[in-house]
Amino acid sequence: MRTGERQSFAARVRDELIRLPAGKPCCMLSEISALTQTSGHLAFRGGGWLSVSYRLEDAGVARRLFQMLKKRLGVNPTLHFTQTSRLGGRRTCVLTLSGEDARTLLDALHMTETDEDGQMHLKRTVPRHPMTRQCCRKAFLRGAFLGAGTVTNPEKGYHFEWKADDEHLPQMLEKLLEKCDLPFHTYVRSGQQVVYLKGAQQIADVLALMGAGQSVLQMENTRIHKQLRAAAVRAANCDEHNGERMLDAAQKQAEAIRQISLKQGLFTLPPALRELARLRLENPDLSLKELGEMMDPPVGKSGVNHRMRRLMEVAEEI
Ligand SMILES: [Zn+2]
Repeated sequence: MRTGERQSFAARVRDELIRLPAGKPCCMLSEISALTQTSGHLAFRGGGWLSVSYRLEDAGVARRLFQMLKKRLGVNPTLHFTQTSRLGGRRTCVLTLSGEDARTLLDALHMTETDEDGQMHLKRTVPRHPMTRQCCRKAFLRGAFLGAGTVTNPEKGYHFEWKADDEHLPQMLEKLLEKCDLPFHTYVRSGQQVVYLKGAQQIADVLALMGAGQSVLQMENTRIHKQLRAAAVRAANCDEHNGERMLDAAQKQAEAIRQISLKQGLFTLPPALRELARLRLENPDLSLKELGEMMDPPVGKSGVNHRMRRLMEVAEEI
């Protein structure tokens, strides 16, 4: 964060993520793998000498990777800085692993193959852990965000993305997001592949998955304030005692749902409850009966009441 500049939401999320514990050995490897895919470059010289270097704009991310490489693989990266004339002369951190250390890394990630002539090549494989273990999926999404992700300030809109130079990382992310039940979209922007999520709830879910609970809280607060301001204006316009009481209840429900979102993510709820939870957050000024009518298929008043009671119970339990 530079002085005189308000920290962006994306920087805040990054700050929160780099402070998380490195986690289990399997997860560390997943995060290292994601950072290698997004920010790692392999260089060969004669005699089988090779090196892997990471170019990272955020010193905090470089520090986290440095520590994980040492701790998980026992290797010793070197660190230096370069000033790029591009990007307004911003300082870039370069972490380098050479010789045996580079080989240790590539073996651990299963990222090399040797052809008949004994020549080594970089292979873009899909690591196994993140595909099978939920803990490692989270770690991979986090590493990919630290290396190539960004998110819009929630006051301005809801957009979260990863970008990549080729199709390998996007393919991997798509599989992971499917497993995590997070709806995503893709497009190509000036030659780069972009995988993105839209919608406040999806973004809250992915942030929670990566471990950025405080950022989810900040985002939900911004969102609820925005919605409540709008609802208050509408309520004032139609002036009703009833309306106020209803808003009160709606606010309590939204708060309970926010807690669920923050602690475990709405994606953990059964689909029927998740749909109601999202509708409630998006429409804080509507009655439960009206929310029921918006559901697909529509649900009657007692059905919605029952589901809301279950949501409140879930919130109470956590
Ligand atoms: Zn794991």
